[in-house]
Amino acid sequence: MKIAQIGEDVLRTPAKQIGQSEFEQKALITFIDELLATMLEANGIGIAAPQVFDPRAIMIIASRPNPRYPDAPDMQPLVLVNPLIKQSSENKVWEWEGCLSVPGLRGRIERPDWVDVAYFDREGKAQNIKLEGFVARIFLHEFDHLIGKTWLDHITSTENIMANEVWVAKYA
Ligand SMILES: [Zn+2]
Repeated sequence: MKIAQIGEDVLRTPAKQIGQSEFEQKALITFIDELLATMLEANGIGIAAPQVFDPRAIMIIASRPNPRYPDAPDMQPLVLVNPLIKQSSENKVWEWEGCLSVPGLRGRIERPDWVDVAYFDREGKAQNIKLEGFVARIFLHEFDHLIGKTWLDHITSTENIMANEVWVAKYA
């Protein structure tokens, strides 16, 4: 699927919740499979449905080392539908992140270092999970996409923006 680039209205549109009846439809599973394939092809470690022009509250987080994130921890892809932040840490950490919808740039953003999340899995079953560290950061980044935001909205200083190739030379 085509990935929406910054400037597209869909990236500024709050996502709609998935209704219970949608879980029983094969179309949802097919969409999630295509979303995952799109993320993997782009060397992403997370993706949200609005990034493929579908403003529904679906995200995938899938940290793994790859050319874009050589130090990322390895995990099985996790699909979260209608995710809700129940609690997040007071303690915040600064880290660089990139976005498939903001090509060529990295931004240094302050985010909580853990988050408690309620969500539905791809079968429509209610789940809870605590995410920590870099995986929590991926979740919060994708959650931003579901409320019409990107990392650019968190930038407090232009010193916290870097061209991707400079970031790779310095940190990768
Ligand atoms: Zn993003």
